[in-house]
Amino acid sequence: MTRICDHFSGVRKVTPSALGCEDCLKIGSPWVHLRLCRTCGHVGCCDDSPNRHASAHYHNSGHPIIEGYDPPEGWGWCYPDNMFVTLPDRTAQLGPIPKFD
Ligand SMILES: [Zn+2]
Ligand SMILES: [Zn+2]
Ligand SMILES: [Zn+2]
Repeated sequence: MTRICDHFSGVRKVTPSALGCEDCLKIGSPWVHLRLCRTCGHVGCCDDSPNRHASAHYHNSGHPIIEGYDPPEGWGWCYPDNMFVTLPDRTAQLGPIPKFD
């Protein structure tokens, strides 16, 4: 089933900003899952992660749609609509995702 919303025309092909959550890598914090902003390529972490950088990025930037990114799974999430959307493509990862043990 294909799901789209009013923000869908803003979905772009993006280049990921980092191998893992950009902001967690800076502070050495672990994350649970990664989310990729489909407006600007910001890589953030999910709401199960301690720092919730993907949500923070949405609140700071207003960029509405993120992609599940660990690995790319082809689904998207629209924050303002609170719903899953079907993305036209998957963003390739730049390289191995840094892992914390
Ligand atoms: Zn939307
Ligand atoms: Zn993070
Ligand atoms: Zn963004």
